[in-house]
Amino acid sequence: MKKRVYSGVRATGRLHLGNYYGAIKGMLALQDDYDCVFSVVDLHAITTPYSPKLLQRNIREVVLDFLAAGLDPEKCALEIQSQLPHTDLAYLLSTIYPVSRLEDLPTYKEKKAQYPKYVNMGLLYYPVLMAADILLYKADLVPVGIDQEPHLEVAREIARKFNSMFGETFPEPKRFKTNGEYIPSLLGKGKMSKTVEGSYISLVDDFNEISSHLAKAPTDTGVEGGEIPLEGGVANLFTLLKLFSSEVTIVAFTKEYQEGKIKYVELKKVLAEDIYKELKPLQERRREFENQPDLVDTILANGREKCEKMAFSTLSEVKDKMGISVL
Ligand code: ADP
Repeated sequence: MKKRVYSGVRATGRLHLGNYYGAIKGMLALQDDYDCVFSVVDLHAITTPYSPKLLQRNIREVVLDFLAAGLDPEKCALEIQSQLPHTDLAYLLSTIYPVSRLEDLPTYKEKKAQYPKYVNMGLLYYPVLMAADILLYKADLVPVGIDQEPHLEVAREIARKFNSMFGETFPEPKRFKTNGEYIPSLLGKGKMSKTVEGSYISLVDDFNEISSHLAKAPTDTGVEGGEIPLEGGVANLFTLLKLFSSEVTIVAFTKEYQEGKIKYVELKKVLAEDIYKELKPLQERRREFENQPDLVDTILANGREKCEKMAFSTLSEVKDKMGISVL
């Protein structure tokens, strides 16, 4: 049997360069050789403030971004999380995991700080649901950014504990790393994120939009010369340059920085051109799918059917092992 792969993206807005490099590039690298399930995780999207009126549209946008980026529905199954029994498995798994571990997670603390008036049970429960997302498909590999590592550790702990209590059932899922596992925010601090306005360049941005996002990105002034800094605005621009631009360009701007002659306006112009060059074919493919809504519906219906077989088989096995009736 082929090894399984699972990854999900929250339906919280348009995909950005962080999602693309941290997750989608990994999905693309794995789809040829593994049994893959790629998900729009709508149930995770509702743990932070959201608009019910926009949720279905946001789900569709992520599906279109998946297809635009090159996920091939012939090779992988696309699912919408709420249509499969993720929450059933999550509840069962939650009964074997300590609350104190969840309260200590850095991701939970960050979200509490980001939304102090929106600290809900779903947010605390997030890593258990994510463990269920992965374990429902008995996935071995999970292409996600480094920000998800604490959650993957929870998934491994749950898999180990379940196996030791009820018998060997789940593999311990590992993160599949890409060379862009952490894309920094354009604001100079933290990671690029859909839910932080001004932090991202989305996959559908045109050249002018990319240029205007980059124009607002902070740069240090007056400290140029010597080595490129390891963090801050300049470091972040060079991180993007290393992902999108040619070796010649990177070497040239590095030299200019070291000699204290760098002009950030020029760097940002070249970077905007290089980012747009990479995104343009995705945007063209996206338009093709946008114009064929019936095809997208069929892709989702087929994905759902494939996922149901795997998901209900795992759920029945888990219930049986836990002594719960499967009838
Ligand atoms: P967001 O924080 O933008 O809403 P999600 O939580 O939906 O993103 O994450 C979807 C995928 O994209 C996950 O695999 C996550 O690790 C990855 N990801 C998100 N932001 C970044 C980033 N800035 N750099 C690298 N990967 C990222």
